[in-house]
Amino acid sequence: MPVISANVPLLGGVHDIVIDGRDIVRMEPSRRATDLRVGPTLFDIQVNGFAGRTCRMAAADREDALSWIARAMREFGVGWWLPTITTASAEDMEAAFRHCGRILDRDPQTAASIPGLHLEGPYISPVDGPRGAHHPAHVRPPDWDEFQRFQEASGGRIRLVTVAPEIEGAIPFIERCVRAGTVVAMGHTNLNRDSLRDAVAAGATLSTHLGNGAHDTLQRHNNYIWYQLACRQTFASFIADGHHLPQECLYSMIRAKGVDRSILVSDTVLLGGMPPGVYQVGDHQVEKMPEGRIVLSGTPNLAGSGSNLLECTANAMQLARLEEAEAWQLASLNPARLLGLEHRLGLEPGCEASLTLYRMHEHAGTPCFEVVETWVAGQLVYKAGVTARLRLPETPLDAAMPI
Ligand SMILES: [Zn+2]
Repeated sequence: MPVISANVPLLGGVHDIVIDGRDIVRMEPSRRATDLRVGPTLFDIQVNGFAGRTCRMAAADREDALSWIARAMREFGVGWWLPTITTASAEDMEAAFRHCGRILDRDPQTAASIPGLHLEGPYISPVDGPRGAHHPAHVRPPDWDEFQRFQEASGGRIRLVTVAPEIEGAIPFIERCVRAGTVVAMGHTNLNRDSLRDAVAAGATLSTHLGNGAHDTLQRHNNYIWYQLACRQTFASFIADGHHLPQECLYSMIRAKGVDRSILVSDTVLLGGMPPGVYQVGDHQVEKMPEGRIVLSGTPNLAGSGSNLLECTANAMQLARLEEAEAWQLASLNPARLLGLEHRLGLEPGCEASLTLYRMHEHAGTPCFEVVETWVAGQLVYKAGVTARLRLPETPLDAAMPI
């Protein structure tokens, strides 16, 4: 039986973690001295694409999108993630879900890293600002029958849905989702106090990437960001790439929401993990700057995030002044709790052995994680210096795909 001996910041001290089959079967304090550290594997609930692929690639020659992204994520200690499908036409979205469902049915290795899918849109605010970069032509009110078609196409894998609660039909839609076991987030929303209260009463439990997908300018005291920050019944996710939320903002928002209700996400797109440069993506020229910021060429407008959750976790330590154990909790245990998966992702006997082993360094006062091993469901899926790293494409593989 494999045994991992490492410091466990979430518990304190060195522990021996004994793995049998898929699961952790024993954990005990150890007297061994080691610089290795371990946590439940990082869990990113918002991944649009990475390493030159998008999650919605359905073309026959891009069949490997999910397995490719899963392998790339594991190099960065992200053993669990939710492919995220965003606003498009009904046909395109259904095709994307069908593609994901088909791949996950026949590729258990990849499926072990993907405990569900995230539907972000199309049932969001049509208002400029809250709508973010979602295509206005495809934003629409909730449609339960359409959602059922998406759910069926995916093989019942949609586990998280982001909707705007203030739009027509949203509250009954949220109630039906929650009754059917789907977790509902509020996001890309122009909500007010009443629609927030109604959404929470209907069972919504998350604010998606709070502080982004918002107007540039808001009434200073009465606005949807304060309302959602102040809500004690809900989690909030934050894009901690260092570009979407300035330092003071990330710091203050995480403090206000609290360590037990905050979640880190990358919201990464297909240029995540790609080298800096100018890329043609669909109709747009997109530039990835040397510091990782991704913008529409020649403008300051962000065109998605290029970070992975490991970088976001280090950023949260640096920018929000979190302890290592706190930052790790925000990127692993909290998303598992949100989705009711805490019995599978955690550090106790009976949980899956889905773990990230790492060392901690500091570069010029900035914390930095070096991933040593990634384990998913009892399998060692990445080992630094042993597992061949992915060769990144020089250009995104499907230029016709929206980011
Ligand atoms: Zn979004």
